[in-house]
Amino acid sequence: MEAARFAQAHILDQPVYQPGKPISHVAREFGLDPAGIDKMASNENPLGPSPKAIEAATAAVREMNLYPDGSCWDLTGKVASRLEIGRDQLVFGNGSNEVLELVAHVFLGPGAEAVMGVYGFAVYKLATLLMGARAVEVPMPGFGHDLAAMRAAVTPRTRVIFLANPNNPTGTSHTGAELVEFARSLPEDVLLVLDEAYTEYQDNAPDLRPLIAAGHAVLCARTFSKIYGLAGLRVGYGFTRPDIAALLQRARAPFNINLIAQAAAVAALDDAEFVQRSRDVNRAGLRQLAAGFGELGLSYVPSAANFILVQVPDGAKAFQFMQARGTIVRSFGNMPRHVRITAGTAAQNERCLANLRAYLAARG
Ligand SMILES: *Cc1c(COP(=O)(O)O)cnc(C)c1O
Repeated sequence: MEAARFAQAHILDQPVYQPGKPISHVAREFGLDPAGIDKMASNENPLGPSPKAIEAATAAVREMNLYPDGSCWDLTGKVASRLEIGRDQLVFGNGSNEVLELVAHVFLGPGAEAVMGVYGFAVYKLATLLMGARAVEVPMPGFGHDLAAMRAAVTPRTRVIFLANPNNPTGTSHTGAELVEFARSLPEDVLLVLDEAYTEYQDNAPDLRPLIAAGHAVLCARTFSKIYGLAGLRVGYGFTRPDIAALLQRARAPFNINLIAQAAAVAALDDAEFVQRSRDVNRAGLRQLAAGFGELGLSYVPSAANFILVQVPDGAKAFQFMQARGTIVRSFGNMPRHVRITAGTAAQNERCLANLRAYLAARG
């Protein structure tokens, strides 16, 4: 019998995540030299990993016959002291993606609803649907989250609200005051998941720790994939109220953060110089891309993160054209006239803008 006939019904409708294309695939497809391809599609750090993280990971390799510390003791201690929160407020995930999934496991299921922006991070909807819950997608006029409309979308069935600040893929953000007001307006049986994957790139990043300390149901999700440059190792975490963290721990697999990732993440946290340099390179990159878009007459959404959403005549075609010339960007089914471009090094940005110009010229 075909497996689909005895699988759970909601799995058959489950959409599939479309990742940014790996360099090796594009090299193969177009006969290009991988060294000449710029991946500006997944918001990775163009500087590579922190040198300190490389060193720690290399040393940890010698112990990879051992299971990792399932409690992430060292990493938990380091993050807890950095954030001045309790160890019992933290839960680590195989990427913050897994933290989002743990939230879905614990709080979502058939009959429950999760509220999210229509241009929110794609994983929110996937995690929601995977649990058989309903994804309530709220319009985002002007590409930013409409907090009043999100509040209005909350029903007695709502268990979770997913909100990225800054948001991916739009790059938009809210002030701390706006987020605090929003969180305070929510019923106490709704978990606000504030996804802060790009928070380290922001000046005056919102701080919801006082709200969590005051007992609000808020979880902030963070990652080592972006500014810390460890996307390939898969480490992220959430910090929240201890009772919420304890529930998430129940849903977690015993050794979800591998040994090399734990060592590298601890070291990356200590590399303040790398983080600062990443921030500086990003800021310069955003400026360079924005100036280039201006020269090309393209409008873009001002970004608080490490990427920019730019309007083009046809997103899918721009993606195709640029990819064949060695710049991988990201197009979106639900935003057919935009591409998202990760800020790269000066040279990468220059090549990207040249390829964008060529695409526009080729259209005549
Ligand atoms: C990149 C990103 C993440 C991080 O994913 P990881 O699983 O930690 O690599 C989470 N949320 C958003 C909005 C992102 O853009």
